[in-house]
Order: sequence, then structure tokens, then C-alpha cells
Amino acid sequence: MSWEDKVRKVVPYIPGEQPSDDHKVIKLNTNEMPYPPSPKVSEALAGFDTESLRLYPAPDVGPLRDALAARYGVACDEVFVGVGSDDVLATAFLTFFYSDKPVIFPDITYSFYDVWCDVYRIPYETKKLDEDYHIVKADYLGENGGIVIANPNAPTGISEERDVRFIEDIVTANPESVVIVDEAYVDFGGVSALPLIKKYDNVLIVRTFSKSRAFAGMRIGFAMGNSRLIKYMNDVKYSVNSYTMNRPAIELGIAALSDEEYYEKAVAKVVKTRQWTKKELEDRGFSVTDSKTNFVFAAPPEDKISAKELFLQLKQRDIYVRWWDKDRLRERLRISVGTDVEMQAFVAAVDEIMA
Ligand code: PMP
Repeated sequence: MSWEDKVRKVVPYIPGEQPSDDHKVIKLNTNEMPYPPSPKVSEALAGFDTESLRLYPAPDVGPLRDALAARYGVACDEVFVGVGSDDVLATAFLTFFYSDKPVIFPDITYSFYDVWCDVYRIPYETKKLDEDYHIVKADYLGENGGIVIANPNAPTGISEERDVRFIEDIVTANPESVVIVDEAYVDFGGVSALPLIKKYDNVLIVRTFSKSRAFAGMRIGFAMGNSRLIKYMNDVKYSVNSYTMNRPAIELGIAALSDEEYYEKAVAKVVKTRQWTKKELEDRGFSVTDSKTNFVFAAPPEDKISAKELFLQLKQRDIYVRWWDKDRLRERLRISVGTDVEMQAFVAAVDEIMA
């Protein structure tokens, strides 16, 4: 017997590579925003009162929670704020998935879900996407210990919205489970399930500032749902770490929320560049899904080059994209949408590699 037999062992999630700040690359591998946060954020940071750091921050994240409630037209007790949506999702898994029945989510989705299940010892089962990478609604209507759906999904980019009742049918079929809808990418063209929180007490909508609000480095995520769901999440949070959100994050998060016009424009630019990139790749024989996110999910023409080879050769040219050695993923690349200049350089590199 050794102390190592008593260790909670887990295979961790592997995030996309973050090169050091002095290694300049075209970074299209972690779906960050290519544009800076609003100038209102810079102003708030310049005016930040360093003296206030002496004091603990608000444990209930009050001022930022209230600003979010006002922005999304929900009550303050229907909002939970965390250190990025990873923290919010991890708290939700720990809070709501506490039964012997398996939690279910798609086999191809955000690859953190199975890691949280492993670390918290939550049983889970994955359901296959159909051949067009769509989520099969029927798989989520039976008995289970909980449900997680990313919509739009990652890394496919696909939003389930052809069927307008897609999420609602899953929620109504599961009154005995909590349904988590991860809307990390919804601002880039998806349809939000947020209105459902007023009708059903078992649906939790999870969002992030990391993508559309250009705040990946600030770490703010939030969830919206029935006040009882939020209360249970807070009970767990206060049992692990009360002061999750630091003072600068609370203040700068509020500043970001005060300039929606700026972010709408930045998001519109990303959407335009995404459509341009999709067309350029399709013109070169790539198969590209209909992404409603800030990335494209593309398979290069098989007879010309494999996705892995293209990934490696792009990397040699200091252009980072994402590739996974996993069934139904290995023939594709996930390419975050950068600025127009970055995407032109990416397409030029693809041409050079495939010449
Ligand atoms: N959900 C999905 C689907 C994601 O792709 C990501 C980003 N990797 C997250 C949640 C977590 O993002 P963050 O913790 O930065 O909010």
C-alpha cells in the first residue's frame, strides 16, 4: 500500500497550446476572439482602485450578477457567475449529477464533459452524432442521470435549430433530470434556449465571456436557470470556495456589459470572416460544416492531403489550428476565425502546402 493508492487519479483535459507571448504565431487553435475587448474595459482597468484589493470580493458576485440579470432580462437569483464557463460547468456537474444513472452527452462534443465525469466519479454514456454530425434528439428522451448539450456544438460548429423544439423536447422529456445547455458559442449565430428557463425548472443555460466578449484571459462564465437550480449551485460553490470571482474581474465584466454595441460589431466581423473562410476552403475542395460559431470544422480533400499532415505543415509555418486523433475527428481540422489578414495568411499557407 502506498499513498498513491489513495490518490484521486484522472486523465486531464488537454487545452489547445498557448505559445509564450514572445513566440508570434497565427493562433487559430482555441477559439479566442481576434479583436480586443471594448475600450470601456480599458477605461475601467485604468480607473481600477488598487487599494480595494485589500478586501475580499463579493462572494455572491453581486454587482456583476445583477448587471447580467439586467442584460438578459432575468432575476438576480436566476444567475450564477464563475471563473469561466469551465468553472460554471464543473460546479453544475458536481451539483446536479449525483445519481447512479448515467449522464448523457454526444460522443463528439466539448471534450471536458467526460473529464468532469471522471474526476467527480459520475457515470456517463455518450450518444453518437448522426452522419452529418447532428445530435440525435431521440437519444436524449429516455432515462438518465442528466443531460449535457453544447449548442452550437463543438468542434462541429453545428447549431441544432432546424427543429425549433429540439432543446425544449429534451427538457420536457426529462423532468427528473437537469439538462445543461452549453451556449459558449451562441452569440455567433446560434439560437439560445434562454426563454425556456421561465417555463421549466430543469434547464440550465451556460454562457461565457471568453468568446464573443474577447475575455478568455479574464475568466468569466455564467449560468442562468430557475432560482432553485442556482441556489443548489451556490450551496456547492460556498462549500468549495466562496470567493471565486476577483475584484478586477467583477468590475471589468460590468464594463464589458456596458458596451454591447461594440461587441455586436466585433461579432459581426467574425461571422463575415467565417463565411469568407468557409467559401475559400470549399473552393479548394474542403468539406466544411455550417458553423454558427467562431470556428470552422473542415475536412481537406482526401486525395490531396490528410488533415493531420495539413495540421503539421501549418504548425511548421507558425499557424496553429486544432486536430484530434479520434474517430470522425481525425479527417478534419478545427480552425478558429481570426482577423481577415490572419485568415488570408492561413488560406495562402493552405495553397502553398497543397500546391
Ligand atoms: N464550452 C465549450 C463548448 C467550449 O468550447 C469552451 C472553451 N474551450 C468552454 C465551454 C469553456 O470556456 P471558458 O471556460 O473559457 O468559458
